[in-house]
Amino acid sequence: METDVKTILAECGFSFKKQLGQNFITDKNLLSSIVALSGAEEGDAVVEIGCGAGTLTRALAQKVKRVISFEVDKSLAPVLERTLSGLENVEVVFRDFLKVDLKEFEKELESYYVVANLPYYVTTPLIMKLVESSEKCKGLCVMVQEEVADRLCASAGTADYGAITAMCALRAECSIVKRVPCTLFTPRPNVDSAVVKFTFGKGIAVSDAPLYKKVVHAAFGSRRKTLENNLVNSFGVSRQQAQEILTKCGIDLKARGETLTPAQFASLSDVIKEYI
Ligand code: SAM
Repeated sequence: METDVKTILAECGFSFKKQLGQNFITDKNLLSSIVALSGAEEGDAVVEIGCGAGTLTRALAQKVKRVISFEVDKSLAPVLERTLSGLENVEVVFRDFLKVDLKEFEKELESYYVVANLPYYVTTPLIMKLVESSEKCKGLCVMVQEEVADRLCASAGTADYGAITAMCALRAECSIVKRVPCTLFTPRPNVDSAVVKFTFGKGIAVSDAPLYKKVVHAAFGSRRKTLENNLVNSFGVSRQQAQEILTKCGIDLKARGETLTPAQFASLSDVIKEYI
C-alpha cells in the first residue's frame, strides 16, 4: 500500500462513526506487535471482527494463510478496496458479527484465531459469543478498553472481578499482554486500551456449563448478599441445604460470591446439581 491510510480515508470522504466504535490503528509498530502477540502462525486462519480501514487486516494477511474480516459499515468498502489491494488471502464480509451463526460459519474452517481491535460498544457480547459458542476457535487476541481488560483478567476477591471474569475462565486462560495509550488511535478515544490474550482449552473443568453460568450469575447478581442467601433465592434450596452445599465445597458460610475462584464456582455448581 503506497498511500498513507489517513490520506485514503480523506480521499474516500470517509467520516468516522463514533457509535460503531471506530477508533482505527495506524501505528505500524502497534500493528506488528498485535500480530506477533496473537500467536497466529503462517498456516493459520484468522478471523477479524471490525476491519475498519484494513490496517490490522493487512498486517495479519502478510503473516497468516487466510484472513476473514467482518465489518458492519459498508461505507468502508471503497477504502478497503485500496488498502487491501494486492492481497489474495483476505475476505471482507460486510456483516454484523453478532448476527453470524457461528456453527454454520465454522463448518468450512478447521480451526482459527480471532484477532481484533474490538468496537468498544459491543466488546462484552462479542467476547461472550466466542467464549460460549465457538468450537473451533483456538484463542483470541483482542484490543479492549483498559478497564474491561482489567475485569477480564481480574483475580477473585478484587473489585474488578465479576461474572464475565468467571465466565471467561471456564474456557480460557486470559492475560493482559500489552497496554496501549489512547494517543495511538485515530480518532483518539477518551480512555486507554489493552490487548488481552485468551488461550482456549486452558479453562477449568466443569460437568454442566449452563449450570456454572447460572451459579456465577446468581453469585454476582446480588453482590452485597452472602452466597448462602443468593443460593436460597436463585436455586429454591432451603437455608439448611444451602449451608450443606457450601460446607461440602469447603466454602465459608459467610462468604460472598465475589470471593470465589472459578474453580470454586465449578465445584459449587457440581454439588448444587445434586440438590436441584
Ligand atoms: N481493525 C480496525 C483497526 O484496528 O483500525 C478497526 C477497529 S475499530 C475499533 C472497530 C471496527 O468494528 C469499526 O470499523 C466498526 O465499524 C466495526 N464494527 C462495529 N460493530 C461491529 C459488528 N457488530 N460486527 C462487525 N464489525 C463491527
